Amino acid sequence: MKINITSPSFDEQELLLLKQCLDSKWVTQGAFTQQFESLFKQRHDVQYAFATTSCTAALHMAMVALDIKPDDEVIVPAFTWVTSAHCVEYVGAKVVFVDIEPDTFNIDPAALEAAITPKTKAIVVVHLFGLAAKMQEIIEIARKHNLVIVEDAACATGTTYNGKPVGAIGDIGCFSFHPRKVITTGEGGMVTTNNLKLAERIKILRNHGATANPNIDTSKPYYMGNFDHLGFNLRFSDIQAAIGVAQMAKLDGLLAGRLACAKQYDLLLKSVSEIATPKSPSLCGHSYQSYVIRLSEGGIDRRNLLMEALANEGIQTRPGTHAVHRLGYYKNKYGIEPNAYPQASKSEDLSITLPIFPDMTEADQHKVVNILKTALSCSENK
Ligand SMILES: *Cc1c(COP(=O)(O)O)cnc(C)c1O
Repeated sequence: MKINITSPSFDEQELLLLKQCLDSKWVTQGAFTQQFESLFKQRHDVQYAFATTSCTAALHMAMVALDIKPDDEVIVPAFTWVTSAHCVEYVGAKVVFVDIEPDTFNIDPAALEAAITPKTKAIVVVHLFGLAAKMQEIIEIARKHNLVIVEDAACATGTTYNGKPVGAIGDIGCFSFHPRKVITTGEGGMVTTNNLKLAERIKILRNHGATANPNIDTSKPYYMGNFDHLGFNLRFSDIQAAIGVAQMAKLDGLLAGRLACAKQYDLLLKSVSEIATPKSPSLCGHSYQSYVIRLSEGGIDRRNLLMEALANEGIQTRPGTHAVHRLGYYKNKYGIEPNAYPQASKSEDLSITLPIFPDMTEADQHKVVNILKTALSCSENK
């Protein structure tokens, strides 16, 4: 039997709400999107939330709303999904990579401070794999240098830092509802903020740049809205939002399921000295969107052998994520040396994301770990 890296949790509730949406004949952004946003705001203790087509779209709107310009520098961790950096490129600004801490895979606050220049405007703080970044240290640095914080909380729906939901701690939070994430709507994202001015901008950007003219009666049939801004069509669909409403209702259960799986892996892998399991520093919550282990003895060839051994038994795995500075676009554009951010590179080369999802059985977790252990002993000198 195959074990996939993830498996979304759907039941009758999604079908029921989906049918309600279709029966209503309203399928673009409407009542279900509003309900989804409202549930999301409550759960994340944040004032404004705007559903959109992806976290990538959310990050793009964040950069535009914050008025990041071509001469500005934005700091991005070197180990993350590509769009944490792409969003900076979309507005023509300069990406400045910063290395990560090997034990958390999150941005290293000391390296972050060292990368700040007079041109630095913002930091994209990634809560990678659902583990909250060290927000207290990061906020102190941001305040000192007058920088705005965009939280890339793609993996971190429901994650907390010091008891407070992430995505509502910095200036703007961006979430993903891709099938690999904590909740899913197929594709989808959310922008959150507590700043009214930013909220107004995001709302306008999402809807073609349209605003209402306060001097015109907008109920007139000939009124078409004002278009004073260059916006996008990044509206959400109510078909997806209906699924999102059903997913939000089970968020706590989904997180509990993931946590239980992570604890079980921790236990099963405790005696395996060549594997480092995920660590959560104090104050930093974890959604376990991914359970990423790191090989501590041997290099990329041995890591690849382990992944192939798992694949041969039908077990799907992936490397943790990208060392983005080594990807062609960034390497070529900025002339970055491959070993410039050694922890990010090592993390890409030595990490394995094991299958994890709320309904994963203990038996399947045992199977994954047993195959991994056998492959480790067969590859000892590699
Ligand atoms: C998944 C992910 C994204 C992109 O989310 P999409 O909704 O697929 O656009 C961005 N950043 C991180 C850290 C991610 O894991």
